[in-house]
Amino acid sequence: MKILITGGAGFIGSNFVHYILNRYSDYEIINLDALTYAGNLENLRTIQENSNYTFIKGDITDSKLVGSLFEQGVDSVVHFAAESHVDRSILEPDVFVKTNVLGTQVLLEAARKHSVKKFVHVSTDEVYGTLGETGLFTEETPLSPNSPYSASKAGSDLLVRSYHETYGLPVNITRCSNNYGPYQFPEKLIPLMIVNALDDKSLPVYGDGLNIRDWLYVEDHCSAIDLVLHKGVNGEVYNIGGNNERTNIQIVQTILHELGKPESLIKYVKDRPGHDRRYGIDATKITRELGWEPKHNFETGIHETIRWYLNNEIWWKRIQSCEYQKYFDEQYGAR
Ligand code: NAD
Repeated sequence: MKILITGGAGFIGSNFVHYILNRYSDYEIINLDALTYAGNLENLRTIQENSNYTFIKGDITDSKLVGSLFEQGVDSVVHFAAESHVDRSILEPDVFVKTNVLGTQVLLEAARKHSVKKFVHVSTDEVYGTLGETGLFTEETPLSPNSPYSASKAGSDLLVRSYHETYGLPVNITRCSNNYGPYQFPEKLIPLMIVNALDDKSLPVYGDGLNIRDWLYVEDHCSAIDLVLHKGVNGEVYNIGGNNERTNIQIVQTILHELGKPESLIKYVKDRPGHDRRYGIDATKITRELGWEPKHNFETGIHETIRWYLNNEIWWKRIQSCEYQKYFDEQYGAR
């Protein structure tokens, strides 16, 4: 099978590239990634020489480039590429619409023209909006996004749906809760708190710190996408979640406790506008229909993640110093 993976230099995409190459020795992967600030080829350094793996630096909105890749005979697409940070979407919504909405449509169109066998669109539980104190998001929950990021993802979900309904494209949409684990860019909650604590810097917590997210270890997300890619019923949406709801302040306290750092590092800051209060996922469908089970509980997952950041200080220090950008520019020309 030849899989086009988009956004494979980002956090989840790079974990997925490793996952697939480890699991299926005869699969070929083309990784299309624009290497925005969030893309990091260091995540893939160990597989650079793998003959089943090809990296293409390019933008998913570039229909000519995307078309030329499909002409090489792509069987399936797993689409991760996106602008993914809510805070950035509040400052710069336009690039979110361009990449997440237009980019997805460009890929869908090429997939349709070349009759791919499966298009897996990796989406987020944030498209459902926010929950009160009780209840969970199911696949039937109406889309009600509240940030430019989640709105652009919801727009892309609807385009994916429309390509199935209108053209019969064999698609699936996955909607996952918050991921954590190795290679996550240190602007997101868990890695940001780990690296700030290690540097004895303050840990900024929005509002009262009581916003709730459901957390899933990234490898468990990869195993769910793997199942959807191979067994997903065309046209279906699958929610993916860890059943690990935590308030933000609980996450921060857990990290400080594991690292032996004082809670005096916590600094409450003005809340994010439109900040969703609670997300919670009902993942019964993927468990019942495809047999998915997460392997990591939150305690082991967060422990492994903290150890990874402790053991890979060079990785995140380079990001902090932007040194890795110099490396990319040397390798692939200035961006
Ligand atoms: P990320 O920001 O770490 O990585 C995104 C990748 O996409 C980067 O490598 C970036 O260079 C690439 N990219 C951005 N714009 C591009 C473009 N125009 N053309 C080609 N490549 C481009 O994101 P992530 O956290 O790994 O998330 C991956 C996907 O999973 C996203 O679609 C996101 O919406 C979804 N998702 C993320 C989470 C989470 O907790 N991180 C949860 C659920 C779903």
